[in-house]
Amino acid sequence: MNLVLLGPPGAGKGTLAARLVEEFGFKHLSTGDILREEVAQGSELGKLAKGYMERGELVPDEVILGMVRERVDGEKEGFLFDGFPRTIAQAEGLERILPVNLVIYLDLPEEEVVRRLSARRVCKKCGANYNLLTQPPKVPGVCDRCGGELYQRPDDREEVIRNRFRVYLERSAPLIGYYERKGILVRVDASLSPEEVFARVAEVLRR
Ligand SMILES: [Zn+2]
Repeated sequence: MNLVLLGPPGAGKGTLAARLVEEFGFKHLSTGDILREEVAQGSELGKLAKGYMERGELVPDEVILGMVRERVDGEKEGFLFDGFPRTIAQAEGLERILPVNLVIYLDLPEEEVVRRLSARRVCKKCGANYNLLTQPPKVPGVCDRCGGELYQRPDDREEVIRNRFRVYLERSAPLIGYYERKGILVRVDASLSPEEVFARVAEVLRR
């Protein structure tokens, strides 16, 4: 079984993916994480991707597909894709790599996306993630783990978030219809707690 998580930034795909890996043993492929790794390493792909990401734009399909093909490495089962595919072209490209059996759509309105994402903070020193709403540090602006300074990533600023949401809607909304027509899409209300969201998805997987 291969699973795709869809939904706007901030819908909780990463949190859900971590639980699904733990409970069901999926191999997690987050193109967001892979891209950030490449950016941090300063690889050719990373340098290319960086400009797009900082403007809140999507990285081109062929760059993403090449990266996914490399990480899947000929295996056919047990993958969980998070943040990918984002366009019909990517979805069609993915089908040439392996079959998709189930798509979970985490549904969240724009205002809630803005509220959640503009509250994110990251440690400058160790990279630990915080959220002022759901997971604040013990001392404001200071990392619990290492005492480092917390900052807001450039792509978590409100105007960039709104731009990402618009880009997401324009380019990804057709995917929802695409997977719906294939009869493999399940919608989940992402404004529920992470536990409730996980419970609903687990129920679908155990069917
Ligand atoms: Zn830290």
